[in-house]
Amino acid sequence: MREIVRIRARRRDISKGGLEPLPEWVRPIGSNIVEVAVPLDDSRGRRFVRRLRFLNRALARRVHYSAWAERDYDEKELHGAGLLRIVIESTFEPRGEDCRTRFDSRQECPDCLAGRVVIPPLRLRKSTLPRNADIAQTIAMDESVITRRLGKLLRKARLTGFTLGPIACGGRTRVLDWHHLVVHGDAGYLVQPSSFGSDPVDVRRGDDRLCKTCRRSRGLLISEAYVSRDKWDKSDVCITRDVAGLGMGCVRPSPELLVSQRAYAVLRKANARGFRIEVAHVV
Ligand SMILES: [Zn+2]
Repeated sequence: MREIVRIRARRRDISKGGLEPLPEWVRPIGSNIVEVAVPLDDSRGRRFVRRLRFLNRALARRVHYSAWAERDYDEKELHGAGLLRIVIESTFEPRGEDCRTRFDSRQECPDCLAGRVVIPPLRLRKSTLPRNADIAQTIAMDESVITRRLGKLLRKARLTGFTLGPIACGGRTRVLDWHHLVVHGDAGYLVQPSSFGSDPVDVRRGDDRLCKTCRRSRGLLISEAYVSRDKWDKSDVCITRDVAGLGMGCVRPSPELLVSQRAYAVLRKANARGFRIEVAHVV
């Protein structure tokens, strides 16, 4: 397994903070964004994040950046995994709530914002659904969609743990090429040595952001995922009871999405897109 950390920041924040000229390992992505992609244990990633944090304090929290780990595996590692984590990379807006989706908020945590449930149908804007993905999510991070094509293949393989909900556009439900992906398979809680924090390169001791109110949300999952064999209900498509992500602005913490080897085989055969795959350990 090869691990890299990817850090992205806005170029104008970097300019405001006087960090230019940039070293050659900070690459521009288009005209607005700069990126650092280095091995996880490379000190340049840590240095860059620390400088961004320093700028954030100096510029009154107006510096935005994101940092996450990406892991590459060989075939043997992927085929030997107990479960596989789906990290959805294809995102779109507007969110369901901007399109008048209704939610059951009875279980929603007032602090971390996790736990709301869509009252079907999920309402979205048809023109914004991605054209080059099979699984995607809105920028709220707790509304996932799957193409009719892939949904049909998962059903045909008799995979368990999910239902395909309707998506409505405009005033009424329409037949679309997409379904709302509703996962009820239960992977239980993430267990040790899963680790959490605010970013993957600068994990501070005790930086566990366990929500004091609902005790489900813990900041970002920064290690690979580990779940307990006894708690996983053996569904092919399942979610963790923990939610990850930082609930702020329009973004909601959401559970980790995991799939079995059987489901992974269907995704591979279908050449499904819109996500990356990580090994998840069943211990
Ligand atoms: Zn909470």
